[in-house]
Amino acid sequence: MKNPESYFGIQLLKWNKLFNQREMPWKGEKDPYKIWLSEIILQQTRVDQGLDYYNRFVAKFPSIEQLAAAEEITVFKLWEGLGYYTRCKNLIATAKYIAIELQGAFPTTYDSILALKGIGPYTAAAIASFAFNLPYAVVDGNVYRVLSRFFGIDTPIDTTIGKQLYNTLANDLLYKKMPGVYNQALMDFGATICKPQLPACHTCPMRKKCDAYKNNLVSTLPIKEKSITKKIRWLNYLVFEHNECVYVRKRGAKDIWENLYEFKLIESVGALPIEKLKQLKEIKAITGNQTFEINHISAIYKQQLTHQTIYGQFIRVKLTQVPNLTGFKKTSRIDLLQLPFPKFISNYLKDKNVSLNLF
Ligand code: SF4
Repeated sequence: MKNPESYFGIQLLKWNKLFNQREMPWKGEKDPYKIWLSEIILQQTRVDQGLDYYNRFVAKFPSIEQLAAAEEITVFKLWEGLGYYTRCKNLIATAKYIAIELQGAFPTTYDSILALKGIGPYTAAAIASFAFNLPYAVVDGNVYRVLSRFFGIDTPIDTTIGKQLYNTLANDLLYKKMPGVYNQALMDFGATICKPQLPACHTCPMRKKCDAYKNNLVSTLPIKEKSITKKIRWLNYLVFEHNECVYVRKRGAKDIWENLYEFKLIESVGALPIEKLKQLKEIKAITGNQTFEINHISAIYKQQLTHQTIYGQFIRVKLTQVPNLTGFKKTSRIDLLQLPFPKFISNYLKDKNVSLNLF
């Protein structure tokens, strides 16, 4: 068991008091709803990207009851562009659960917070310590990195044994008189001083006792066992146009873009030349015997996800008759802009050249 008032903890809190200038709108926030909202937005999202979303959500839904009462499509539209849409689905489910089943009272214990949909140990510890001052250490990428470097731990952070080890160490080090302040300080320290690339070791108040610094291991730690291999996918989106309308559908369950809208999708192993596109049996099945025209093929779009790299193009197909597209709805331009789309598609729709020329 580490002494909670260890060199590490003392230096961290001292740094926090004297030098930490990291400002975020949710810092010092005590409302569990707002802390929860910020934490869900920040899962898998950089702070600078999440900031606007947080402000927009709080402005539109100042309370959990207002979020719970909102139409699902409105919440998804507000979430559009943040990615990892399961978070949004869980956000809606949890808001409804708290507003209806718990009469708006946010759970106040670590276990009851952890039991909520979309909340893992990290988020539960953050809410429990920030909102209720409960002694639970947050353990995220920042914490793994700082502890691994300072204590010179080379156990891979992505193994069961590594996770247990870091979790125990983080909880032993936690300054239990002020768990919220300590947790926030550690995350800020990892984000601004002990950064993944080019950490500020020369100004770091812990360098005298930092194992990685003394042994020239800063760029080696922390260690990961598996490096992620990224799958490559190629998406061809067919924008069928007829009578000033296009055809979209809502994506079905169980994938990363669940509940979002899309055009007709055909996946291929790479870019398809126009002649090949025209011959595709999927297009023939949709167009039947009518004459149609491929009047625009977009530039290539790219999106990097954690486990896959997505490339794709949007192909506008002008029809003379109604297409045979089961499950798709005919949508005007105005309505199209109200629907939530994956970032990959909204980037295309926001493209000046596209929106000016579409229809
Ligand atoms: S000396 Fe460098 S590696 Fe060690 S804790 Fe400080 S910033 Fe991190």
